[in-house]
Amino acid sequence: MPLNVASTPPADWKYISEGGSSIVFSYIGTSADFIGTALRLRKIDNRLPYTEYADGVEESDDPSILFQHRIIEKLVEPQYLPRLESVETDRAWLEQLAKQTEEKRPADRRATDRIDAGRKKAVLATDLVGGLGWAVEIKPKWGFLPTPKYLSKTTAPVKTQTCRFCMHSHMKTTESEDAALGYCPLDLYSGDEDRVRKALHTLWDIWIGSSGSVNNLKVFVEGGMLKPSTLPSTLRPLAGQILSSEDESPDLDTLRDAFTSALLPVLLKTPVLGLLSKYQREFDVLDIEGLSALWKQANQPLGSPDVPPPVLGAGLKQPSLEEIEAFVEIYLAKHSTMDHDHPDTANLKYYCIAYLLSASFKDCSIIIRLQPTKDEVEPWRKTITVIDLDVKSMDRLHKWEKLDQKIVAEYAVLTDPKRCVDQGLREWALPA
Ligand SMILES: [Zn+2]
Repeated sequence: MPLNVASTPPADWKYISEGGSSIVFSYIGTSADFIGTALRLRKIDNRLPYTEYADGVEESDDPSILFQHRIIEKLVEPQYLPRLESVETDRAWLEQLAKQTEEKRPADRRATDRIDAGRKKAVLATDLVGGLGWAVEIKPKWGFLPTPKYLSKTTAPVKTQTCRFCMHSHMKTTESEDAALGYCPLDLYSGDEDRVRKALHTLWDIWIGSSGSVNNLKVFVEGGMLKPSTLPSTLRPLAGQILSSEDESPDLDTLRDAFTSALLPVLLKTPVLGLLSKYQREFDVLDIEGLSALWKQANQPLGSPDVPPPVLGAGLKQPSLEEIEAFVEIYLAKHSTMDHDHPDTANLKYYCIAYLLSASFKDCSIIIRLQPTKDEVEPWRKTITVIDLDVKSMDRLHKWEKLDQKIVAEYAVLTDPKRCVDQGLREWALPA
C-alpha cells in the first residue's frame, strides 16, 4: 500500500522551491514514515480547472517515477539517484497546503499557476536539501563538443570551437534574457582542478550578480533557499556553515573561496559528471544536423525528389516506456560497435529516442549535499545526487533543430568567438 501524505498535518511540510511544472516541500514533522523526505506536487495553470478523475478511474503514478525506475536506473547507479515513490493525497489536504504556502511563493509564479489539488497521487522523494548542513544544486548543461562529421561547412568551424551552452548564453544576453554568461560547462566537466574551480567561481559570481535568478546554481542552508546579493549579510546562513565561527563579517571573496574549496574535492572525485557527459555525447552522436539528415533520407517521398520531406520528427509518436527500455538494451549491448559514421535509415527510431534521452541528461541537475558529522577527520558527509531526469517530448525535435540553427547563426558572425575545450570521455561507471 502506498503511504498517504494526508495522514500528516499540512503544517509539517515546509515550502522549498518550485520549477515550471512542480513545487517541492520538505517534511519537518515527526512521523517515521516521512522523516528525510520531500514531496513533489504537480502545478496547474491558473486559467485551468484542477485535473479531474472520473469515478473508478485510477490516476497513474507520476511519469517521472516510472521513467526513473525503468530507464534511468539502468544507466545511473541508484546511489546517485533520489529515492522516488508514489504517495496518495486528496483534495482537501492539498487545498489546505496550498493556502498555507501561497504567501511564500514568488509573485510571478503565483500569478501563473497553483498546486493542482485535483491530483490523488504525488511523488515522495529523498529530501536532499533539508536537515542539518547545506546543499548546492547545479544545472551543469551540455558537456561536450560535437564531432564535425555531420556538421555543414558553415556550422562546423563554429560548433567545434565554442560549446553549445556558451553560444546559447551569448544569444540570451543579446535578447536581454537572464543567462549564465561566462560559465562554460566544459570547465565543470573537465576533471581538471583549475578549470573546475574556475567553473565554480563563475557560477558563484553569476549567482550573486543575478540575485539567484539564473538557475544554474542554487544554494540551500538547512532547507531554506538563499536569496543572495552583494551584501554579505544575505549570505550569513551559508557563512555559518562554511567558515569558522571567528569570521564575524567575511567578505565575498572569502566566502567564495570557502564555498569552492568545499565542493571541489567532491566534483573532482565523483564519476557522476563524467557519466552525464558520456550519455549526452553518445545519445547525441549524430548532432541534431546529422539526425535531421538521416530523417530526410528516410522520409524523402519516393520518386518525388523535389517534394520536401516533413520536418524533423513530424508524425513521430512519443515512444512508450517499453520502447525506451528496448532502446536502452540495444544501446548497452551494441552502441559502441555500431557504425555511427554511416547511420542506417533503419535505425532512425533508435537515433531519435537516443536524442530524447540526450536531452534529459543535458537538462538535469545535480545536488551536492554536505551534512555535518561528529567525526573530526571527516567533519562533513558529502553526497552527490542526480535529479530532474525527466522524459522529453518527441514533438520538440523540430524546435530543437530550429533553435540550434538560430544559436549557431547568431554566433557565427562574432569576430572573436570563445574557445571551449572538450576534455573528451572520462572515467564512468555503469550500474552493476
Ligand atoms: Zn563553453
